[in-house]
Amino acid sequence: MELIYVFILGSAIGSFLNVLILRTPRDESVSFPASHCMSCNTPLRIWHNIPILSWIFLRGKCAFCGEKISVQYPFIEFLSGIIFVLSALKLGLTFQAFGVALTFDLLLALSVIDFRYKMVPDSINLSALTVAMLSAVSLEQLGYNITNALLFAGGFTLLRFYLSYAIKKEAMGEADIMIAATMGALLGVQLGLVAIFLGAVLALPALLLTQGETEDSKQLPFIPFLAMGCWIVLMFDTTVTVYLAGLYG
Ligand SMILES: [Zn+2]
Repeated sequence: MELIYVFILGSAIGSFLNVLILRTPRDESVSFPASHCMSCNTPLRIWHNIPILSWIFLRGKCAFCGEKISVQYPFIEFLSGIIFVLSALKLGLTFQAFGVALTFDLLLALSVIDFRYKMVPDSINLSALTVAMLSAVSLEQLGYNITNALLFAGGFTLLRFYLSYAIKKEAMGEADIMIAATMGALLGVQLGLVAIFLGAVLALPALLLTQGETEDSKQLPFIPFLAMGCWIVLMFDTTVTVYLAGLYG
């Protein structure tokens, strides 16, 4: 029963994610002006702003001008609801579960922005890292999260130095290092490395598919795959840990 409220909370936060996705790449304020139709600029009424349901009732069209509203809006709201429900199922109704869900919501926003605009706003990236570090139920866990974030941030900075030297140009962006630190905070060192490896494996088919295309489309956004790898490892952490123990005895 509580999970219904968790889903409603998640989809409401998903509604705010849509605002982030729309406004952050244009450097607009996320709080002002209030939500409005992208086509006719009419401010939305409260009942036009209900996550998922409004889009269904309006049949995907603006109530004022009839312009189509992208299915991306209800989709993000739905996905965010699911992220919150699965986090609660995994970690219980805890502050940690809320933090983890919020981190993945921010990674979802980053993934969409990375995919659509080929950019990674630091504001959202740093928010995800901060929330990930704070996602703890004890001071001990908080310290553990911060230590792991530092290890990953440092480790990937070193890797970047060596790689950049080896290939004689800037390897990896600062954004990638922040994402890695977020993954370290969420998963710890061992599972974090598995998640990054899984992200790379998931990106392979997409890399192969886009290989024949133009220079521009070769810039495959990597963040969606890292976020997916991170999510899968977090959801199946016990299975992964058991598997690793079997591999290394
Ligand atoms: Zn309109």
